[in-house]
Amino acid sequence: MPTPPNPRERTRLIRAGLSTRVDGGRAVNPPLIRASTVLFNDVAHLQDIRSRRNDERLFSYGARGNPTAFALEDVITELEGGYRTRLFPTGLAAITQALIAYLRTGDHVLISDAVYEPVRHFAREFFERYAIDYSFYAADGQGVEALLRPQTRLIYAESPGSLAFEIADLPALARLAHANDALLATDNTWGVGYLYRPLALGADIVISAPTKYLSGHSDVVMGAVTTTQAAWERIHRSSDAQGMTVSPDDAWLILRGSRTLAARLPLHAAGALRVAQWLQAHPAVARVFCPALPEDPGYALWQRDFSGTNGLLSFALKDATESTAVRVADALRLFGMGASWGGFESLVTVSNMRQARTVADWSQYPFLIRLHVGLEDPEDLIADLEQAFRKHSLHTPKAAASRHANCTPGCKPKIRK
Ligand SMILES: *Cc1c(COP(=O)(O)O)cnc(C)c1O
Repeated sequence: MPTPPNPRERTRLIRAGLSTRVDGGRAVNPPLIRASTVLFNDVAHLQDIRSRRNDERLFSYGARGNPTAFALEDVITELEGGYRTRLFPTGLAAITQALIAYLRTGDHVLISDAVYEPVRHFAREFFERYAIDYSFYAADGQGVEALLRPQTRLIYAESPGSLAFEIADLPALARLAHANDALLATDNTWGVGYLYRPLALGADIVISAPTKYLSGHSDVVMGAVTTTQAAWERIHRSSDAQGMTVSPDDAWLILRGSRTLAARLPLHAAGALRVAQWLQAHPAVARVFCPALPEDPGYALWQRDFSGTNGLLSFALKDATESTAVRVADALRLFGMGASWGGFESLVTVSNMRQARTVADWSQYPFLIRLHVGLEDPEDLIADLEQAFRKHSLHTPKAAASRHANCTPGCKPKIRK
């Protein structure tokens, strides 16, 4: 069954990283291959494989990767449209390994203010020890030009940003980076290479956590770095030198999850938009943060650069106190209290934005309630939000309630194709 030329993304997702034929037939899903030692025919065979394994992807030893993980690498490379992919034990490890691979003492790196919070911790722990200078730039990318230094070797982006989903103009960041002889790396966990393809927009390095939507089942953690051909060498050599690999069992779980990504994401998106619109109409809500809403400041760029949205959104209550946000979150029954989104279940967390951002002033919306809308029926999620609001006397007025009622059976929120 040859793959047709120029298949669409859903077809590419399903046809990438398939198992290879053995004597007899071929399993549909790549089989799980566990190994430390790999056996060779003779000394010459062993030496030949070892001499080529730095450049070619060869099965030579468990710590140098395994065929199950190679199949997952191929799926992610295909989604991101990259040259090759390296896998890491967690999403955070993929980020830190990329930063270690592309930066050295004396370099300067510009980091988005909207970055996944543990990256700030890593910068404090590691960059200061190795005399790598770093500064943060506004989440929408404004003012980056003025922050570039001759020593800036990397711009690190995350778009949409963590927690508030700010969008940056990635092609503009790529132009600025390249004019300064720097690379652009970006965290694409939100976009999964399916809703957003940063390498096609000029990024050199894409980092993601397959922990989230690619896995889709909240039962495994993993990280991935996909690059252009020009940027490949450094992450590849650095990872081999540091013994970075992943368990084939974990790779197999994510491969299995990845095949239904295209079926799951539109359900998450439709649910999130339905919940977002209900929240927007609620008088207790000050603002809803989701780039797929026309009122969101990132909407125009989202329309230009993305092919859809996912299950994430945040909102701020008019009562901006931490205690009210916490009480509403605690009163939810269908939303689990937990951080790592992308699974089939709905989740809630409360974020302190004045801690999560250092460039932007978040004193107007100091506490955000972040939702991950899972695959439950969104009407049940709305009923859950409604009872949590009511419990704390944040009432739904007639207008919002009737808009909700009018919308119930046939209402399909618009999702961009
Ligand atoms: C969760 C997350 C990560 C880290 O993934 P882990 O596998 O949990 O380490 C990195 N970036 C973003 C944007 C994330 O949401």
